[in-house]
Amino acid sequence: MKNYILKFWRVFFTIMIGMKVTFRHLFIPAVTIQYPTVKPELPERERNRLYVNMDDCIGCLQCERACPVNCIEIEIVKSIPGEDLGITSNGKKKALWVTKFDIDIAKCCYCELCVFPCPTDCIYMTDVYEFSEFERDNFIYDFVTLTHEEKEEKIKNREEFMIKKEAEKTAVAKKKVEEEAKKKESETESENKTDDKPEKNKE
Ligand code: SF4
Ligand code: SF4
Repeated sequence: MKNYILKFWRVFFTIMIGMKVTFRHLFIPAVTIQYPTVKPELPERERNRLYVNMDDCIGCLQCERACPVNCIEIEIVKSIPGEDLGITSNGKKKALWVTKFDIDIAKCCYCELCVFPCPTDCIYMTDVYEFSEFERDNFIYDFVTLTHEEKEEKIKNREEFMIKKEAEKTAVAKKKVEEEAKKKESETESENKTDDKPEKNKE
């Protein structure tokens, strides 16, 4: 009987040693959270998904040039005289239509280098870190606010404006050439008249 009690005590004691850590943690606040129901508190300067506020984008291309992995693609079209694109929230006048602004977030290395050069602070890191996708193409974020028709219209307007400007330039150049030719002609005529006079006098 004594032997049985001793064995029982040893087993009980071993279990107690094994469960020591478990028991201790029963009275310590939990460090785990019930993700995704509970979201972790992120550091202040964390880097996550990018966002572009197109209302403030002036199409300066500085973010595109700064990106080390070329995951930003921007296309712009110059506005034509008479078009008012408004101003940004920090008072910069907009003069370019942004017809393409894609960020391939799957390529992005979250370096934040595109954020710092932006003169209007319109490209920035958000606190969104859950954006998994099944399709690779869904990682290409299109920020442009213009519709397809509007893009076409802006491109067409600019092309027409350039053709008109070029035609005007050509017309001005042609007129100048004509005027110069006329001037030269009249100069030659007056020179000829002056040359003829002494001969008549001789006769
Ligand atoms: S965070 Fe870095 S890699 Fe990502 S878009 Fe900006 S510059 Fe490119
Ligand atoms: S740097 Fe800023 S304003 Fe310039 S194109 Fe990029 S997002 Fe737009």
